[in-house]
Amino acid sequence: MGSVIEALWGFHLNSILKKEKDIPYELGWIYGHEYNDFACILRGEDWNPETKDGELFRVEVKSMVASADESKAHFDRLQHEFAENELLAVFLWDWKVIADQPKNVYPAILDYFVGYALPIAKLRDALHLERGGSFIQKGNCPDGCTIQNCTHVGEPLNASGVRERRSGPDSSKGAGVSYAANFGGMLRMLGSRGKNGKDILKNEYASDPTKARFIDFMARNFPRVARAIK
Ligand SMILES: [Zn+2]
Repeated sequence: MGSVIEALWGFHLNSILKKEKDIPYELGWIYGHEYNDFACILRGEDWNPETKDGELFRVEVKSMVASADESKAHFDRLQHEFAENELLAVFLWDWKVIADQPKNVYPAILDYFVGYALPIAKLRDALHLERGGSFIQKGNCPDGCTIQNCTHVGEPLNASGVRERRSGPDSSKGAGVSYAANFGGMLRMLGSRGKNGKDILKNEYASDPTKARFIDFMARNFPRVARAIK
C-alpha cells in the first residue's frame, strides 16, 4: 500500500500543477527505479534522467505505517548519493474505518514531512556512529580493495561490523545474513542511547531547521522519539 500512496502523491501533485497554467514545472517519474522517486522537471521540455538535463531537483518519497513497529521503507542512500537540493517526502499513514461503513477501511495520510534529504542523511549518520556503527573509510576497506577500485567507501557497518547494505564489502557479511538491513529504518535511525545519545540528538536538532522539522514530525507520531528529545 505504501508504494501506491507514494505513486498517488506524484499523480495528484501533477494534477494540481497542471491546473496552474503559470507554473512551468511538472513532476517526472524516474522509471526503472526500485522505489518511487520523482524529479521536478520543466513542463514540455526534453528531460533526460541519465544526464539530468531538463530537471531542477529530485524527490525521494517514502511511506510509513503508523501502527507498524518499523516501516519497510529504508532511507539508506549514502550522503554522497544526494544532491544538495534533493528533497525527501515522507508520508505517515494507517488504515482507518470509514465513518458510516464500519466494514470498510481506507489508507489515511496522518502526517507528512517534506524537506531537504541531505541534512536527514547527516542526522541518520551521526546517530549511527553514536550507536557504535561505522562507515568504510577510504583506503581502509575490509575487502582489501585498492583505493582506485573500492566501491565501498561510505558503506555503513553496524556495531558488530556487519555490513548494513547488500552493496557493502563481502568480508563484512554477518553470520547467517548477507547484510543487516537496519540502516535508515525511519524510526530506528533516530534511536539514541543514554545521555550521550540524547545530547547528540538535541545538538542535531539545534543545528539545522530541516533536521528539527524531521525530528518534530517523528516526535509528534512516535512517543519514543518525543521522550528522547525531552
Ligand atoms: Zn572496498
